[in-house]
Amino acid sequence: MHAELDIEPLHSWCGMDRPVVIAGPCGAESFEQLLETARGIAAVGKVSILRAGVWKPRTRPASFQGRGTEALVWLREVKAETGLPAAVEVANAGHVEEALAHGIDVLWLGARTTVNPFYVQEIADALSGVDVPVLVKNPVNPDLALWVGALERVNRAGIRRMAAIHRGFSTYAKTPYRNAPNWKIPIELKRLLPALPVICDISHIAGNRQLLLQLAQKALDLEMNGLMVETHFNPEQALSDADQQVTPSDLATLLQSIVVRSKRIDDVEFENTLELLRDKIDNVDHKLIEALARRMELVRSIGEYKRDNNVTILQLERWAQVLRDRIPAGSGRGLDEDFVRKLYNLIHNESIRLQTEILNAPAGIKE
Ligand code: PEP
Ligand code: MN
Repeated sequence: MHAELDIEPLHSWCGMDRPVVIAGPCGAESFEQLLETARGIAAVGKVSILRAGVWKPRTRPASFQGRGTEALVWLREVKAETGLPAAVEVANAGHVEEALAHGIDVLWLGARTTVNPFYVQEIADALSGVDVPVLVKNPVNPDLALWVGALERVNRAGIRRMAAIHRGFSTYAKTPYRNAPNWKIPIELKRLLPALPVICDISHIAGNRQLLLQLAQKALDLEMNGLMVETHFNPEQALSDADQQVTPSDLATLLQSIVVRSKRIDDVEFENTLELLRDKIDNVDHKLIEALARRMELVRSIGEYKRDNNVTILQLERWAQVLRDRIPAGSGRGLDEDFVRKLYNLIHNESIRLQTEILNAPAGIKE
């Protein structure tokens, strides 16, 4: 893939410091919540932009949907008091117009918007002729081209102050994260568009407070330019994303704890290459687990079939045949014979254990 964007460097509009920090509540809930939170954030002294969701893209209709236009009025007042520029999510042309009419300084496209080129184009059209910084979150699904396409649409509308936000990707597989980071995608984005700043939204990747610090460190070690951290003066009472928000004082601690390393360019290349390889290994390992689980499911079916037909579990001839087939198959792919034998012994033992369990299960109860 090839891509080109005409962009202004981040420091020309966002200060020189790295990381650039964007903090604020998931949603603007009330004037008091916003003001209290923003005061705390301003006191941290390291935050460049105050974020607050005004129109919230919620999965279920009964959830808190954001306060809409009245929250834009609050943001203007909070900005006047704290001096922090304000950023909101926009998901259609009407949002863009209202946000700009209320003096919002930075706009961002959410993950559920980036997935849809129609929405992105509508927003890009509304931005035409407007000079406002725009941040584009990755789409919900791990599709680099879709992310790049959204950035291109916004850029073609004449927006030059831009950044991408990496907020992780939705997966069906269970992971420790709310949205799996899939680091290889932002790394490839950086490789493709070296001048594009990338900010890591550690809150929506983590989904909890415990993983924030390690994610922030990792994002910086991968040369990302900034962090987005959902911050609320009283996270437990937040109307959305309560589990992942931190207090302003937690934010200060987090920012003090991270180590900002500046690297030689060859180190960055080295780290990125290592990360790509590790990512591939992670993928292969997940496939291995998937294959093992599938194998054991089949073993269970065989176990039930043998039980129902009164056949013994251990069938030595079959076992010998498996080894006769798997060992040379492994050797043919460069795997050590002893390693394959040991691996199959483990697999076989587990298969016997499962079948024994099935045989001993009380009649009528099937797994
Ligand atoms: C948000 O930033 O509050 C948000 C809704 O995030 P995302 O679009 O990444 O899900
Ligand atoms: Mn949120």
